[in-house]
Amino acid sequence: MLDQARIDALRDAPVTPGAHIIDGARREASDGATMEVISPLNGQVLTTIPKGTAQDAEAAIAAARATHGDGRWADLAPAARKKILMKWAELIEAEAEDLAVLGVRNNGTEIGMALKAEPLTAVANIRYYAEALDKLYGEIAPTAPGNLGLVHREPAGVVGAIVPWNFPLMIGTWKLGPALAAGCSVVLKPAETASLTLIRLAELALEAGLPKGILNVVTGEGHVVGAAIAESMDVDVLVFTGSGATGRRLLEASAKSNMKRVYLELGGKSPNIVFADAPDLDEAAKVSAAGIFRNSGQVCVAGSRLLVERSIHDDFVARLAAQTENMKVGDPLDPSTNAGAVNSLRQLEQNLGFVEEAKSQGREVRIGGKRILEETGGYYMAPTIVTGVEPDDRLAQQEVFGPVLAVIPFDTEEEALQIANGTEFGLAAAVWTSDLSRAHRMVRKVKAGVVHVNTYGGADLTVPLGGLKQSGNGHDKSLHAFDKYLDLKTAWFKL
Ligand code: ADP
Repeated sequence: MLDQARIDALRDAPVTPGAHIIDGARREASDGATMEVISPLNGQVLTTIPKGTAQDAEAAIAAARATHGDGRWADLAPAARKKILMKWAELIEAEAEDLAVLGVRNNGTEIGMALKAEPLTAVANIRYYAEALDKLYGEIAPTAPGNLGLVHREPAGVVGAIVPWNFPLMIGTWKLGPALAAGCSVVLKPAETASLTLIRLAELALEAGLPKGILNVVTGEGHVVGAAIAESMDVDVLVFTGSGATGRRLLEASAKSNMKRVYLELGGKSPNIVFADAPDLDEAAKVSAAGIFRNSGQVCVAGSRLLVERSIHDDFVARLAAQTENMKVGDPLDPSTNAGAVNSLRQLEQNLGFVEEAKSQGREVRIGGKRILEETGGYYMAPTIVTGVEPDDRLAQQEVFGPVLAVIPFDTEEEALQIANGTEFGLAAAVWTSDLSRAHRMVRKVKAGVVHVNTYGGADLTVPLGGLKQSGNGHDKSLHAFDKYLDLKTAWFKL
């Protein structure tokens, strides 16, 4: 599927400036302002996108409200909605390579991962929810004779979706798939540094026959466009993936406006726990390296804390370092690259700041710890392993969102659990062990939305993803994702 000639042809191709998609049309910002899109591959300007205003967000919300109200989508026969969504998936699939390259030039993810994780996952997500939408039944309640209780599922209305830059199409369609399949109208706010592929996705939706105004995209700054969506009196449901700090603001905005339901998928500091009885230490090292360093650690479920049993600590760290040194870091448009660029200079500086702080605390930077390939003008960082990290260090408590692994030794299962659960987060985790009973005990006791056993990552669309504690609430993926976009309504009859 990866055609090198096509990638090379697209590598330096000019990119059409982005536009809002509001009520089925491309639009500029209301005041004509734009913002530059900088490619993390070389630090050069790739193109521009509208620097949206609150007015733009309000126009998009008004379009979503009007089109939800007139039933042009919500009242279509489910099979008709399915047909349009399936067509949309087909159009995305036909453009998958171009979308992947555009996305990589925009956000820096290595193309091998981006193709699968971005356009092709978007296709799979949309198909999954399209196929499911006419298989969702209501309920008849087991009431006493003389009554009839019906439970209907109705589209929740206008959905605001605010998404991040690390996997815009995958995370975007985790929200768009079930929201549109449920019959909702959507206002989508992509991240400043990863808007281009989502704009194209919305254009393809129109081409596939999605009625105008059902899927609107407004680009621009979070504190302007995102805040206007969050503060709106006319958005019914707000879904978000991003940082905890922004999530907190969204909850506040909801409380201060119309108490819209807010579903948050936030950060993590996910523990990857390797016991001495792990079935295959080389496999564990290889998968653990990928689990933190692919996409340069810019993965919300990244296994960023390695908890390793002390008796195998030195041996395992050596295997991990060897695996990591085998990884190819650099040009994300080279299909053999394992880890591409860091998304922005700001993020790169933040990553390096964590490493400097760890060093100043006397922690050992086992490998990496620095910016590389600076001559390209791009933002690249060597995969970094820091050992001797204490559970309370900032590096063990806060999300870096970069290629930095904190290694912490432990002596007992109890201690591993205590360290694993000793952060504000609860997104993902892994346990490597040959002891089946221990694996089940850990799955029960580790506070995380997903606990991997003898692997890391790869949980597919059939299972939900959601955080515990301050990693958020609500779930993307699986049929459970529909719950956010469908309201229950009871009809009670006296017969
Ligand atoms: P990150 O630090 O990973 O960029 P953010 O939470 O800042 O995470 O960004 C995730 C998404 O939230 C982006 O689309 C961003 O524009 C948006 N965003 C940022 N700040 C706000 C805000 N104050 N209100 C609403 N959305 C915001």
